[in-house]
Amino acid sequence: MNDDNSRDLYDRALSVMPGGVNSAVRAAIEPYPFFVQKGDGGHVIDADGNRYVDWVMGLGPLLLGHDLPDPVQASIQQKASEGPMYGTPTEVEVDLAEFVVRHVPSVEKIRFVNSGTEATTSAVRLARGYTGRNKIVVMQGGYHGAQESTLVEGDAETPQPSSAGIPQSFSEHTLPVPFNDEEAIRKVFEEHGDDIAAVLTEPILGNYGIVYPEEGYHEFLREITDEHGSLLIFDEVITGFRVGGLGCAQSEFGVTPDLTTFGKIIGGGFPVGAIGGRAEIIEHFAPSGDVFQAGTFSGHPVTMAAGLETLQFAAENDVYEHVDGLGEQLRSGLSEVLADQAPSYTVTGTASMFKVIFTRDGPGRDSLEEQCSAGCRQNPTCPRYDSCPKNAADVKNAETERWRRVFWGKMKAQNVFLSQNQFECQFVSYGHTEDDVEETLEAYKHAL
Ligand SMILES: *Cc1c(COP(=O)(O)O)cnc(C)c1O
Repeated sequence: MNDDNSRDLYDRALSVMPGGVNSAVRAAIEPYPFFVQKGDGGHVIDADGNRYVDWVMGLGPLLLGHDLPDPVQASIQQKASEGPMYGTPTEVEVDLAEFVVRHVPSVEKIRFVNSGTEATTSAVRLARGYTGRNKIVVMQGGYHGAQESTLVEGDAETPQPSSAGIPQSFSEHTLPVPFNDEEAIRKVFEEHGDDIAAVLTEPILGNYGIVYPEEGYHEFLREITDEHGSLLIFDEVITGFRVGGLGCAQSEFGVTPDLTTFGKIIGGGFPVGAIGGRAEIIEHFAPSGDVFQAGTFSGHPVTMAAGLETLQFAAENDVYEHVDGLGEQLRSGLSEVLADQAPSYTVTGTASMFKVIFTRDGPGRDSLEEQCSAGCRQNPTCPRYDSCPKNAADVKNAETERWRRVFWGKMKAQNVFLSQNQFECQFVSYGHTEDDVEETLEAYKHAL
């Protein structure tokens, strides 16, 4: 596979951009990432003309794939050609807000921003402003963007910044606990209950191997936050309008958070974020309330049009049926490949998300017929239950040099583009086909 153009572009990029990229994970590929020239349905074509089945899909936003349907395309182009933005409101912001309020029951009001990071930053500030409390409980291995309050590692006793440039004194207001661990949550509420503004969690850990919640976990979070007057914030930047269709993951789990952060799909492929929730809380944002929040580009007409038309297209077509169906085919096909070739590895994911975690121990291949074949569901009767990752530590334990040095490259050599590290998940789009699934399963067979 020729990659001269990508190599030369990366060489140029290294001279003018740190690590040659504009977002850290893109440089994870060794020795250098390929540069994309354009997308085509469920595929991308790189700067040297190589074509890949693309399961990265922009790391989540591209529910419809790279070929936007005509009404989406037309609406984007019209907004762009009318003078891109104005610094004063436009109708399309109201249209998209109404659409989200209509479909996501916990969202009575919404504010649009420009990235998932901005959404979680503003949600945390809002929760602190609304409750008058300082501390935020987060899940180890959860990701909420590149922001001061959540780039924190360690545990609730000894939280530390996970990046240089963040004062230790900031990280002390963030309490990381293991996902799926009710005892750990009880303990932080016993110690800090009066000062916990919110529990902030992804409904499914989507940036760390895909970890599914155990039965009852979210209900438990709902109850304990209610008991202590803290807010429950679901970060649905990945799962929003992907898991549970237009009702989002909260409808899938039947749990109503106080606040929800959105991003990715809600902007139809353009930069976006949003904070939605109970009107009484959202009203605390300026100018109706005293929690300052603003943005030059917020509610950008091109983004709003792309998001609205994307979601409307999904509402009127078989989008979720298509992507969830292919997701299921991928996950059950992968379970079969693994049972045969790598019985200790675990297939994870749900709806249109999937990943293979290179777990080291598991049941013998003989007992695998009864496993959750369409991705780990933390089902206690599954023979794989004890070895399925339940939290970040379990996923971390499965980290291996093999994934990075051998597996990813073998998939790329077979023209399959998987997410750039062993933690980020992969996405099915409306542009993918059954042929893409078959080609990918075949590639896994050779690469594993
Ligand atoms: C991607 C992501 C973010 C950050 O969104 P950006 O648009 O990259 O700032 C926040 N939370 C979750 C769950 C995400 O997946």
